[in-house]
Amino acid sequence: MGDPHLAVAGVDPFAGRAPSWGRRGVQHDFGAPRASGLACRASKDSPHEPGVSARRRSGMEAKRGWPCSRWLRGLFMGVSVLASAVAPAQASGPAPGPAVMALQVDATDQVHKVFQIRQRLPVGGDGAVTLRYPQWQAASHAPTGQVGRLAGLVVQANGQPVAWTRDPLDPHAFRLRAPAGTRALDVKFTYLSPRVGNLAMTRQIVNVGWSNLLLYPAGVDVRELQVQAEVRLPAGMQFATSLEVDRRDGDVVRFRPASLQTLVDSPVIAGRHVRTVSVSDSPDLPVTLTLFATRPEDLALPEAAFAPLRASVAEVQRLFGARRRAAYRLLVVLDERMGGPGGIEHRHSTETFLPASVFARPEDNLRNLDLALHEYIHAWNGTQFLPAGMEQRHFNHPLQNSLLWVYEGLTQYLGKVAAARGGMRTLAQALDDLALDAAAAETRAARGWKPLRDSVHDPVILSGRGIEWPDFTGKKDYYVDGALLWLAVDVEIRSRSGGRLSLDDFVRVFFAERRGADALHVYTEADLLATLERLVPGDWPRFFAARLDTLADAGLVQALARGGYRLAYVDEPTETFRQDAQDRGVDDYLSSAGMAVGKAGLLRAVRWDGPAFRAGLTAGARLVGINGQPYDAGTLRAALAAGGPLALDAEIDGERVAVRVEAGSGLRYPRLVRSEPGPALIDAIFSRP
Ligand SMILES: [Zn+2]
Repeated sequence: MGDPHLAVAGVDPFAGRAPSWGRRGVQHDFGAPRASGLACRASKDSPHEPGVSARRRSGMEAKRGWPCSRWLRGLFMGVSVLASAVAPAQASGPAPGPAVMALQVDATDQVHKVFQIRQRLPVGGDGAVTLRYPQWQAASHAPTGQVGRLAGLVVQANGQPVAWTRDPLDPHAFRLRAPAGTRALDVKFTYLSPRVGNLAMTRQIVNVGWSNLLLYPAGVDVRELQVQAEVRLPAGMQFATSLEVDRRDGDVVRFRPASLQTLVDSPVIAGRHVRTVSVSDSPDLPVTLTLFATRPEDLALPEAAFAPLRASVAEVQRLFGARRRAAYRLLVVLDERMGGPGGIEHRHSTETFLPASVFARPEDNLRNLDLALHEYIHAWNGTQFLPAGMEQRHFNHPLQNSLLWVYEGLTQYLGKVAAARGGMRTLAQALDDLALDAAAAETRAARGWKPLRDSVHDPVILSGRGIEWPDFTGKKDYYVDGALLWLAVDVEIRSRSGGRLSLDDFVRVFFAERRGADALHVYTEADLLATLERLVPGDWPRFFAARLDTLADAGLVQALARGGYRLAYVDEPTETFRQDAQDRGVDDYLSSAGMAVGKAGLLRAVRWDGPAFRAGLTAGARLVGINGQPYDAGTLRAALAAGGPLALDAEIDGERVAVRVEAGSGLRYPRLVRSEPGPALIDAIFSRP
């Protein structure tokens, strides 16, 4: 209520007639003659456009015969800035201002899950122009933009079609030749969003991710190019975004001009069932949580349901030190079909995709509890403070991910710490969560050939592709092993300083906003080492080299012992383990027989060089018999619990194969147990200081 960025749609300006555009596929209709009532034909200077003559404006509008609506008229007014910017220097009129790209997104076709895009792009005079589709996405650290989802591209200049060709070496680049006198190109295309998995659009929720929904001229700096964006939302939807809203006209929302970088970093999420609550009333660091649900009952939560998140957000703010900044928005979609569990960080907002029950029944969602918190920590580490090489001047240049073990690893660790300190997880749950990570790190075959530092290349190597043998290739280990690395750093600081200092102190110093809360800060590995050295002198380069650059990784798991715990294997799973396996749809015996079994005996994972591997099994095989009995999940569990070798029958490539798995001594599930009596450092880390 009272939130200027969150409003209920009122009058639909398009109600009762066909939409001006959208759902037209590839029809070339820019220049088509229209009834006068639908064409913007200016006959005199508009008081809102001083200095733009009727002749010039007619060149932009009337001759082209763009469909006229209040929406589009507003767009043209925005583009008047562009007109003055790209006019020849000797032309009369106002002094050149910043070029503005106009972007309209129609997000109403929930049936076909497609977005219709129209753009007016400033171009400097005539000649060769290259339009780029964003390829490198900051949050995925990878070239995950999918130009294959762009279809129906039409480009026009002055109402005439302009032919385009793809760059022979880069399918994300469209080359064309703008005719003489061209000041702006009109572009339209359709974005085909996924229809199965990772949805951007359902009947209840629409996620407007701008980077998929635009082309931009090559050669511009995305931090400089201003964009006037508008979106047409499905009727009656509410929305939230960190963008500043200029005005809302029915279901059309017009945003204040923002740099292309800011726009792409500021998604708009809209929904039918939306609820916003404050999770930080701090006048310096206000934070709101906006929930988008598929079912309205998922929003019927008592205020107390948000108390642990509120306390954990306060812990994050205490870690980084409170500085005044604009309101921060946690945008949480309670529907995993839209890309979860997972999240995408932004400078002033986050997108997080979680199971619908995460606030109603947190005890059933132990592994996912800290996801929104992780993304919030990126408000500092990753968006305001950026590793060198990850600044984007444009979206088609490779990112240099060398410091992902800081960007993601430290964030992952601090998310776990803040979640425990704020009460999102109990101490016991935090330890169980850590045990899963430690077990994964301990059994990872990748560390036999690939140092942890090399995992920073995984986003590029692995994104969007099926991963065979993930424990052998490694799978973005800078998260799990990275978190263990920063636990080791925390323990090291505490030990060396005799308990006087901790990683909290490092965070406060390293992320101090020396250049103000609004400035971007870029850090290097040398900065990090120097900060640690100032805090607690020691051979930090060697400390990190031993863990990042060797195949032994200096015993990340064994380092738990310095925190008072060791990784043990017991015959009963923790609740966290049970939920983690359930989320993956498997019975997880990776720590015993070296396999994870899904429905109807289908092997979903086999540990590289583990017992099942050595017996001749692989993912995709189907278990049909156990020790002479037909396969049954309970029979397998009982056979494993009894210990000793397993005689398994499996179907592999249509043949029945008998194998013998040396499963060892019974069921084994990871759990942390105290390694020594007395107070444990890890308990102190997970407790509110
Ligand atoms: Zn992250």
